[in-house]
Amino acid sequence: MNNPNVRDYIRTIADFPHEGIMFRDVTTLFADARGFRMAIDQLLHPYAGVRIDKVVGLEARGFILGGAVAHQMSTGFVPVRKKGKLPGPVISEAYQLEYGEAVMEIHDDALKAGERVLIVDDLLATGGTAEAGIALCRRLGAEVIGCAFVIDLPELGGRARLEAMGMPVHTLCAFD
Ligand code: 5GP
Repeated sequence: MNNPNVRDYIRTIADFPHEGIMFRDVTTLFADARGFRMAIDQLLHPYAGVRIDKVVGLEARGFILGGAVAHQMSTGFVPVRKKGKLPGPVISEAYQLEYGEAVMEIHDDALKAGERVLIVDDLLATGGTAEAGIALCRRLGAEVIGCAFVIDLPELGGRARLEAMGMPVHTLCAFD
């Protein structure tokens, strides 16, 4: 590939996890040395010179990206996990899925009041997962300065939803 971009490394799997879903698979991006470095470099780009105290990654692919971003920024990393996975005392936030509800959690001592946080995940669809992450960070008194994703699915409205809350959104590529 001559001058590949991040999007070129993402594989699409039809009918996963359900029939009719086109799953955007970032494992092929993560597995490629140049692709992974390009993704991390591009995720970092808008935040050069910006004070960020913690990177918060959303389960599970947000851990891989957020861990690398936090290391590059020399910040700490904080996981937001699905209900029941974190060992210590947590606060919880429920959000709507297409069918039913999901719950995300953060350790109740993971962020300090006034800390400036960047939220990282692989993909922005409806924005429900990110909004739950934002709510958890804010309930601990942190200031979420932005959300960064590799992939935007603009037709699902997540970017518009987060930007309507005044949240800056950074994405590297989009799929219909
Ligand atoms: P949302 O809450 O914005 O509707 O969905 C985003 C969440 O679902 C993210 O945590 C993301 O990892 C996951 N997700 C939904 N669809 C896909 C997909 O096609 N590919 C990947 N890699 N993740 C997806």
